Amino acid sequence: MSLRWPLENDGGVLSIDGVSSTQLADEYDTPLFVYSENRIRTNVNLLKKAVQKHYRKTRILFACKSNTNIGILKVLRDEGVEIDAVSPGEAFLAVEAGFSPGEILFTGTSVREDELKHLVEAGYRMNIDSVSQMRRLLKLGVPKTVSVRINPEVGAGHHEHVITAGPDVKFGVWESQAPEAYRLALEAGVSSFGIQMHIGSGIMDVSNFIKAVNRLLEIANHVKDETGIDFDFIDIGGGIGVPYKPGEDEVDIDVFFERLFGFMKQRLGELGLGSPEVWLEPGRFLVAEAGVLLTRVTTLKSSPGKEFVGVDAGFNTLVRPAMYGSYHHIHSASGLNEPPQTYTVYGPLCESGDIFARDRVIPKVEEGDLLAIMNAGAYGFSMSSHYNSRPKAAEVMAMDGKSRLIRERETLQDLLRGQMSSSSK
Ligand SMILES: *Cc1c(COP(=O)(O)O)cnc(C)c1O
Repeated sequence: MSLRWPLENDGGVLSIDGVSSTQLADEYDTPLFVYSENRIRTNVNLLKKAVQKHYRKTRILFACKSNTNIGILKVLRDEGVEIDAVSPGEAFLAVEAGFSPGEILFTGTSVREDELKHLVEAGYRMNIDSVSQMRRLLKLGVPKTVSVRINPEVGAGHHEHVITAGPDVKFGVWESQAPEAYRLALEAGVSSFGIQMHIGSGIMDVSNFIKAVNRLLEIANHVKDETGIDFDFIDIGGGIGVPYKPGEDEVDIDVFFERLFGFMKQRLGELGLGSPEVWLEPGRFLVAEAGVLLTRVTTLKSSPGKEFVGVDAGFNTLVRPAMYGSYHHIHSASGLNEPPQTYTVYGPLCESGDIFARDRVIPKVEEGDLLAIMNAGAYGFSMSSHYNSRPKAAEVMAMDGKSRLIRERETLQDLLRGQMSSSSK
């Protein structure tokens, strides 16, 4: 997979936004998540440009479950992006990063009473996932802005676990229940309405997306007919995919949004839905390719017919390969120009599934070398765990040849946090 700016091959060493990965590893140790600030800013601006070219009134909400480091959230805020939060913790972190609750849409699925109370009192925009949730929420307070997450019956995504529409998924409100949900909000005095869907993650193909948007607009029209609500915004979640494998095409976002908005404008007109704002909820698109996981080779070993490379990151650090079978490209960060060799790359966990790549061709490595696991900016740190009692990795932001720590590496002491030392005797 060729390196894309601001990743460069500097005499065989991977450079990330102008910073040498060997220097980063020496300074901050490994495993280490490194993000390119320039790449994040560029991703936002490319998306904004492609979107605004084809539809004027748009808003981009970062689906922050992919990365909630407040250093990243601050950069996104600076670029004019708002937030889609799926838990009170994400909402809290976004506020810590400087967002006001009015810039945050809360999309929760199984939400507790005390959480709803806190969110409505603090003034978040609320995206509601069931009639029951709407009813419980309105007893606790009346948000200014409410949308309902619709199940548009058409899903898409890169893995079964991330497809979030259709009769078997837990998300959303069916068309037949949607008017009731809105009527409750209207009667309670809500004045600003949206309608939302999120059909899945890693979407590469606009056709399925258009099918789902079509259903969403038909349902919006149905709700409007029954309740008289004029929608201020249509929120079309469904994260745009990024290429993970060499040879995989990236989404041509200009074509994607030309087709999507071409369709939407026509359909909004036909259905008499006016020209609402359109909100988008990208997660990985903004941050995945901006992040690299640097990990040190600890061990070379072999079994008959296999060469193994042991590294100091495991599925505690990056779980996507073990959890979804996801492909992450691997470069030799300290020896990009070495001749190719086939390896199975494994981590330190006591689990035979702790494998990043099986029989993968990468440049020849030696113990002590650095590997770079690519596209680690989304669902990397945010899905990491303490499994096997390993402290969590550090995170660094790189830009124009400089780097800054945005999360300290955890220590063994952190593993004790909250544990009571007293014994029963
Ligand atoms: C996860 C999520 C997204 C974005 O998914 P990505 O694949 O990261 O782009 C958008 N909206 C909601 C509600 C989500 O939960």
